[in-house]
Amino acid sequence: MIVLTQEQKTAIEREARQHYPNECCGILAGHIQGRDKCIQDIYPVSNINQERSVDRYNIDPKEFLAVSKRIESLGQSLVGIYHSHPDHPDRPSEFDRGHAWEVYSYIIVGIEQGKKVSMRSFALDPNRQFQEEEIKIVKP
Ligand SMILES: [Zn+2]
Repeated sequence: MIVLTQEQKTAIEREARQHYPNECCGILAGHIQGRDKCIQDIYPVSNINQERSVDRYNIDPKEFLAVSKRIESLGQSLVGIYHSHPDHPDRPSEFDRGHAWEVYSYIIVGIEQGKKVSMRSFALDPNRQFQEEEIKIVKP
């Protein structure tokens, strides 16, 4: 399970709207409690994919490094990545699966026509297949 506050969920949805029709992406920082990933901070990062930013994302490696260092300095862990799917379902693509790391959760925000949003989260199993995980919304 991945645990978010309503405010964090809204912030991710806002990112998806702002970047539409391109994909947005960002880093989820928090801590792991048993089998749950509790999100503490969200770091939007640049999608540097030039050719296919409407259906792919590549996180700027410099930003990734800077955010990783910041997360570490706060004693948090990098628990996942979010990105949007403009006018595509909120399910991981084959490209997403091929580029995913096993330790992270992947939140995907489907956004239709720049407005209607939906959100699901996935994590890889040992066979590198994505399994959906529950998103729990909590009060801060
Ligand atoms: Zn994707």
